[in-house]
Amino acid sequence: MHPRLILFDIDGTLVLTQGAGREATRLAMLDVFGTSANIETHHFGGKTDWQTLVELLAPLGITYDDVKRAMPDYNRVMGAHLERIIGQYSVMACTGTLELVDYLHQHSSALLGLVTGNVSNAAPVKLRAANFDMSHFPVGAYGDDAMNRDDLPILALTRAQRHYGHPIEPEQVVVVGDTPADVQCARALGAVAVGVMTGFATREAMEAAQPDYLLDDLTTFTAVLGL
Ligand SMILES: [Mg+2]
Repeated sequence: MHPRLILFDIDGTLVLTQGAGREATRLAMLDVFGTSANIETHHFGGKTDWQTLVELLAPLGITYDDVKRAMPDYNRVMGAHLERIIGQYSVMACTGTLELVDYLHQHSSALLGLVTGNVSNAAPVKLRAANFDMSHFPVGAYGDDAMNRDDLPILALTRAQRHYGHPIEPEQVVVVGDTPADVQCARALGAVAVGVMTGFATREAMEAAQPDYLLDDLTTFTAVLGL
């Protein structure tokens, strides 16, 4: 049997950062753009950081192109702020996820990666704070790769094929996330969509998004996927 590529979202799926992400975003926006706009009331769920910046900054006259140009700077500054402050927050792994990732890492029928709205410098900071081993996620697509989350799974798949050295078909890919945007980006690739209720969307919204599987938490993931 061909191995399956399991692509995990981070916030609300593997990790809850209890406000550290919002605070680091606020500090990074102040440094890079001189304003944190309406960050206090912003709804992050399912959005890439790039999309968050465009939504928050457009009303202030900062354009998509301005944000695009600033992304390398923003990535670096965001990663540094998060690293500095995250120890002050009670970051938690979502139920069962540390055990699940360990299990899948050792399982020859699963390859692991990330599809996350976090910029690439922030993702490992959040995962390490929740005691994940970053070497278990050798590939990923991030919130500084594209503004639209739907563009991320194909990028992660391409990187996985290069890293693992063999072709992987879209139907061998499983995208796991806590919001309708995660389900939608799985569909954009033609991947299996697994929704999980440990994060930031209501059950009603997740049911309406029609994932292939909707789980209360990831403790049942291997049983449901037959891994
Ligand atoms: Mg999420």
